[in-house]
Amino acid sequence: MAYEPVIGLEIHVQLKTRTKMFCGDAVEFGAEPNTHVCPVCLGLPGALPVINGEAVELAIRAALGLRCTVHETSVFARKNYFYPDLPKGYQITQFDRPIATAGWIEVEEGDGAPPRRVRIRRIHLEEDAGKSLHDRLAGRTAIDLNRAGVPLVEIVTEPDLASPAQARAFLGRLKQTLEYLEVSDGDMEKGSLRVDANVSIRPVGSDRLGTKTEVKNMNSFANVERALTFEIRRQTELVEAGGTVVQETLLWDQARGEARPMRSKEESHDYRYFPDPDLPPLVVDGRQIDAIRATLPELPDARRRRFIEQYGLPAYDAEVLTAERAVADYYERVAAAVGDPKAASNWVMTDVLGWVNLRQATLAALPVTPERLADLIRLVADGTLSTTLARQVFARMAETGQEAAAIVEAEGLAQIRDTAQLEAWAAEVVAAHPAEAERYRQGEAKLLGFFMGQLMKRSRGKADPRQATALLKARLEG
Ligand code: ADP
Ligand code: MG
Repeated sequence: MAYEPVIGLEIHVQLKTRTKMFCGDAVEFGAEPNTHVCPVCLGLPGALPVINGEAVELAIRAALGLRCTVHETSVFARKNYFYPDLPKGYQITQFDRPIATAGWIEVEEGDGAPPRRVRIRRIHLEEDAGKSLHDRLAGRTAIDLNRAGVPLVEIVTEPDLASPAQARAFLGRLKQTLEYLEVSDGDMEKGSLRVDANVSIRPVGSDRLGTKTEVKNMNSFANVERALTFEIRRQTELVEAGGTVVQETLLWDQARGEARPMRSKEESHDYRYFPDPDLPPLVVDGRQIDAIRATLPELPDARRRRFIEQYGLPAYDAEVLTAERAVADYYERVAAAVGDPKAASNWVMTDVLGWVNLRQATLAALPVTPERLADLIRLVADGTLSTTLARQVFARMAETGQEAAAIVEAEGLAQIRDTAQLEAWAAEVVAAHPAEAERYRQGEAKLLGFFMGQLMKRSRGKADPRQATALLKARLEG
């Protein structure tokens, strides 16, 4: 019998707030351990939590951006369990009344198939736990509580993903959307985005769900894909050998490339959830939700489609240019200033992104403004610069922050279109290579390239290629 995988994801996303979810401690990654703690996040007796309005707003932004319904009333609950990095003995989260439900994201399948909608089941607000550090003290575990109480949203999908590659593509789109919304930095290395992957298998064509396992501890989307591939194979081999999958939580071991059992799966009743008596229900009114909706940016999928329609760009260009919001903004300013969207696209994709990638920098660090890049592109369009020279000028602009015209002027880079000068060079190179000139006349047309090369060398790359070619041909043939 053939089996197919079914995958659902739970993603924890740290919200970009200045302070924690229920107290005024600063959120600061990499701070000296245990310096951002107070009676509230330490769970000292008598301390009372206060809801962080900024976190609520960011959660609503995320929910609206993922096309969820935001609920005017949601409830914080205590999820009780013991763990050394959880000083209160419970986590404040939302259980049966989350802040938002029922959204979706579009994910492309590649090979030109229409995009599929992956449904978001729910989004809830909660606080993070502290961090156990296993590598600070030899042979011992240290606890850093700076992260205890940092605001998170947990995003839970329906089991709508049908392959590890789809799960990875979904995560890419999700991260991109959250970045556009500016709700999180989405940095997996800092733990701002953490993925738990639920997976089961079932006979192909069945509409029933099999028993799932949950894999944790993947630190990149590539590893989510790898871990799922591993786990699907393990389940399939197990079932094919007559065994049954047991519900459990597995830990991905990146070094060994395998997922190992961590604990048997706990059920929600194990946590003894109940509404937190220290917190009132969270109430947001419809007007507040509408006000947040009004500030949402154009989302990546809409922007991608608009780039294709409005600028006539190939799908590939639209994808690359909208991958990051700042790049898309930059591109649109260049395109508007230069009036040639495809030329603008080529420059941004090749030279601008080339510069950013090479330096591992952000676009904000590039001294070349969109308007200055547009000036440079115009110098190519009007024939002042060849594309080759223009790319050198771009490199100088990025280095010095100067305008294109100033660099062209100072370095004498403008293309030479003086006919007398070009004719003189043509005459020189033909005279210097009589044998090649004769072969050309006998029909070896490709030798024109050789003569162009010679002429370009004499002009130090500055001869206008169109004019030079015409003059060379005339001399060789005439
Ligand atoms: P639990 O109560 O065990 O946490 P949930 O029903 O809350 O399970 O679902 C958690 C996540 O697991 C969701 O993303 C959901 O889509 C996914 N999921 C649920 N059942 C399955 C299944 N049988 N196979 C794969 N994924 C599943
Ligand atoms: Mg769960």
